[in-house]
Amino acid sequence: MGLRKPVIAANWKMHKTIGEARALAAGVVASVGTRPVEVIVCPPFTALAAVAEEVAGSPVQLGAQDVYWQPQGAYTGEVAPGMLADAGCRAVIIGHSERRQRFGETDEAVARKVAASLAAGLTPIVCVGEDLAERQAGETEAKVAFQVNAATGWHLAPEQAARIIIAYEPIWAIGTGNSADGATAQDVCRHIRATLASRFGEAVAAQVRILYGGSVNPDNVGQFARQPDVDGALVGGASLAAEKFAAIVDAWSDAAKEHAG
Ligand code: PEP
Repeated sequence: MGLRKPVIAANWKMHKTIGEARALAAGVVASVGTRPVEVIVCPPFTALAAVAEEVAGSPVQLGAQDVYWQPQGAYTGEVAPGMLADAGCRAVIIGHSERRQRFGETDEAVARKVAASLAAGLTPIVCVGEDLAERQAGETEAKVAFQVNAATGWHLAPEQAARIIIAYEPIWAIGTGNSADGATAQDVCRHIRATLASRFGEAVAAQVRILYGGSVNPDNVGQFARQPDVDGALVGGASLAAEKFAAIVDAWSDAAKEHAG
């Protein structure tokens, strides 16, 4: 793990009014304190500006849940990378399995969004992962390698690739209460790092933060924190209550410290 600072990111999905989002953000700011972990909260678009105010001056960073790749124009309903930066975002989730499955997001769209976000100074949090049938057919490594290569395929310089965060999110584990175990997450995250190494070189691959996501909670997070190639977590359901989310951040800090010491 060494040089890579852990990241715990919260995906609030389509939850929270502006008022609720303010309260949750204030709770996160108050309860995560100054842990040696990067914390990113990703509210829905409508709450970005309000949450930006709540996290201002704190170590908690703001992220969005999607982005379009054009800088401006006649793209009704879409939001540009520069607009997210203007709203206070430092990061953006790209290619979440819900967007791929429910909204037909393609690997090419993911790649364009990654490149445009990097160009606007945002950190892309790129989601990859297999479904249950692919896991059962032994296709997990091929699937995630394909997705990682596709997502990074749009004219990226090595120094841009180094800034990407990848989230390994097995689809069968998202929102099911059935998380992967630590060893499984480690195996796939190591494979993702090897995939990045063959494309961008070892030095770049060693800098990329690779997260696990899928039913992470305060009780199971420790097993992920002890894995050498798992650098944090992307948390959905358990990020919707400040105490629960803070308990995940705390547990990660503690487990990572124990592991290092
Ligand atoms: C997610 O959707 O990114 C996620 C990891 O959700 P959950 O933690 O609820 O499984």
